[in-house]
Amino acid sequence: MTRPKVAFFDFSCCEGCQLQVANIGETLLDILNLVELVEFREVMSEKWSGRYTVTFAEGSINNEESAQKLRMLRDRSDILVAYGSCAATGGVIGMQNRISRDNLISTVYGDQWGGEETRTVRAIHQVVKVDYTLYGCPINPAEFLSLLKAILCGISWRASDNAVCVECKFNENVCMYDRGATCLGPITRGGCNSWCVNNGNVCYGCRGMVDNPNRAGAEDVLLTHGLKPELIAAKMEMYTGALEAGNVK
Ligand code: SF4
Ligand code: SF4
Ligand code: SF4
Repeated sequence: MTRPKVAFFDFSCCEGCQLQVANIGETLLDILNLVELVEFREVMSEKWSGRYTVTFAEGSINNEESAQKLRMLRDRSDILVAYGSCAATGGVIGMQNRISRDNLISTVYGDQWGGEETRTVRAIHQVVKVDYTLYGCPINPAEFLSLLKAILCGISWRASDNAVCVECKFNENVCMYDRGATCLGPITRGGCNSWCVNNGNVCYGCRGMVDNPNRAGAEDVLLTHGLKPELIAAKMEMYTGALEAGNVK
C-alpha cells in the first residue's frame, strides 16, 4: 500500500517546531511506518518532485520569494498545515510589524545591514488557504500526533478553542495570580495542556488568543496588577503582531 507522502518546509522562523518532531523519539519510527517522509531538511537531504499528501509549513512569510514558494507548495499539497505559531499567527517574527522597519534595522545592524528586503510579516493563512493549524511556540508533540492521526484516519480535527486556564484547572495548578504573578492563560488558546504553568512558569500567550477573547476584561485585570498599558499591549501582541490592525507597513 502506498503510504501518504509527508513533507516539512520552513519559512521565517527558528525551526524549533520541526525540532519537536525530530526529537519525538521512538514514536518517530512508528510514524515512519505509516507515512513516507519525502522532505524534511532537518533530518534528510532527499527532495521530492511529485505531490505531497500532507505539507507542514513552518514559519511566517516576509518576502515575495517566500510567498511564491508557499503558493507552489499549496498547489502541490492535498493538505496544508500551518505549523507552529510563526506560521499560525506570525509568532514572534510578527513583532517587527509593530516597529518601524528603518528603526528595527538600524537598532539591530547599525550601518552593517546587507540583507534582503523584507516586507510586512504574514501568517500562512494570510497568503494561502490552510486546512489545519497547529499553534504553539513550539508546537506540542502530543497535539501534532493527534492531528496526524486524525488526518490519516480521515476524521475531523480542530484546534482547541478553550483558554489555557481550562487545562490549568484540570491539572490542579495553583493559579499564578494567587502567587503574585500575572498570566495570559485566561485569553490564550489551549491545547498545550498548560505546559508552562505545569512547569512553574506563567503563560506568555504563545498560542495566540481564543476566538472570542475578553481582551478588555483581561486588560483590566492586568492593570489592577500594576502593569502599564504599553506593557500589556506588548505582551498581548508578542505572538500575534502579524494579525493585529495598525501594523507598520
Ligand atoms: S513557533 Fe516558536 S519554536 Fe516554532 S519556529 Fe516559530 S519561533 Fe521557533
Ligand atoms: S495560572 Fe494562568 S492559566 Fe492557570 S488558571 Fe491561573 S491565569 Fe489561568
Ligand atoms: S502555557 Fe501559554 S505560553 Fe506556555 S505553551 Fe501553553 S499557550 Fe504557550
